Amino acid sequence: MTDEIMALIKARDPYEKEFHQAVSEVVESIKPVLDRNPQYRKLKILERITEPERTIMFRVPWMDDQGNIHINRGFRIQMSSAIGPYKGGLRFHPSVNLGILKFLAFEQVFKNALTTLPMGGGKGGSDFNPKGKSDVEVMRFCQSFMIELFRHIGPNTDVPAGDIGVGGREIGYLFGMYKKLRNEFTGVLTGKNLNWGGSLIRPEATGYGCVYFACEMLATRNKTIEGAVSLVSGSGNVAQYTIEKLLDLGAKAVTLSDSSGYIYDQAGIDREKLAYVMDLKNVRRGRIKEYADKYPSALYTPVDPALGYNPLWNHPADCAFPSATENEINEKDACNLVKNGVKLVSEGANMPTTPGGINVFLEGGLLYGPAKAANAGGVSVSGLEMTQNSMRLNWTREEVDSRLRTIMKTIHRSCLDAANHYGAPGNYMNGANIAGFVKVVEALLDQGLV
Ligand code: NAP
Repeated sequence: MTDEIMALIKARDPYEKEFHQAVSEVVESIKPVLDRNPQYRKLKILERITEPERTIMFRVPWMDDQGNIHINRGFRIQMSSAIGPYKGGLRFHPSVNLGILKFLAFEQVFKNALTTLPMGGGKGGSDFNPKGKSDVEVMRFCQSFMIELFRHIGPNTDVPAGDIGVGGREIGYLFGMYKKLRNEFTGVLTGKNLNWGGSLIRPEATGYGCVYFACEMLATRNKTIEGAVSLVSGSGNVAQYTIEKLLDLGAKAVTLSDSSGYIYDQAGIDREKLAYVMDLKNVRRGRIKEYADKYPSALYTPVDPALGYNPLWNHPADCAFPSATENEINEKDACNLVKNGVKLVSEGANMPTTPGGINVFLEGGLLYGPAKAANAGGVSVSGLEMTQNSMRLNWTREEVDSRLRTIMKTIHRSCLDAANHYGAPGNYMNGANIAGFVKVVEALLDQGLV
């Protein structure tokens, strides 16, 4: 059944290689569930979950500050509404295409199922590159994007959020245009600013949740994260709040990166340095190289694709938190991590490890927390933002953080239980895929052939 589905999706969409990768991982993991439920073949369960309910593609015209016209492509993949309204981020990055968004939307379905909250899965975005654009250019782009997207989303239909290249600024512009077009103030987007419907802890949630997940994994070996030297990639939302929580818990992060290169700061990225990074990345929108100019304890290394591996993953450490993008850890990187003493990998980014890399982690007996589970904190607090919007009230920071902690504990437990139940004890990847899949399929079957 699994070979057939891979052949089918490759024949239908031969160029969507990230989507093939994401599906292949899930269908391999869920083989024991399929073996126990042979009726799924006749019910075409795999065919149903791999075909989006709806795919929207549209033209996004906008004008730059010099009066030049640009045409970008906008997308929204509404993958599954089996357990709630479509929910998932918007990504603005030049690499965005259908294959990338389908992989992200597919992953999102199972991730959202794990959160215990009623959310379906979707993902969207554009090949627009916000880097180097003025605030007004970004606003014009966001407005043009929403002029089409608004007719496909709504608080009970589809609730987008941020992702790479979409932070508080972009969510504000998108929300403003949605409100003007619909003449409605609703919880149609999450990641909103606090004074107009946002939730405390939403910006922090993915990074904090990823560290909470790491703590749960370590607890199974009677260990804590205190004192752990940690490699972190990226320098955006997820990376920043991963480091903040590592600092809260007494661990030490020594790396950060962007698409141009990375810094290694053996002395550790303390709170003052983290504040500098937040200002550099969120306000001045500069490059991580500037960190090494400011702090002489850090060494900057530019990206060198000819190397065939990422030197960021080749430093002595205890834990790794990939928080930049997909496939940023290949097999060689995974071997380097193991060689350097890393015992735990908690994935903040989506699908950051290639299949070869994952095998190295599993064979090496590492605590490997796959993205679907480890980075589900972000969408969980988005779900809590939706709840607060519906109730028209705001919870305190402590209340949201404690709910996030509980959700991460519950996800960790569901992964372990599902892995155990289906004969793969300790394998969080199989556990996450199975627990998410079972929940979605049960809902699908309850709702008939739609
Ligand atoms: P972000 O704030 O835009 O930051 C992304 C970071 O990753 C930047 O430092 C960026 O560097 C780097 N990066 C992006 N593409 C890269 C590439 N191709 N090669 C090397 N570096 C690259 O985005 P984010 O929200 O932190 O998202 C990071 C990852 O977490 C993504 O995989 C996202 O899907 C995942 N995630 C995010 C959330 C969330 O709540 N935000 C939730 C779950 C999962 P440049 O500035 O040079 O591009």
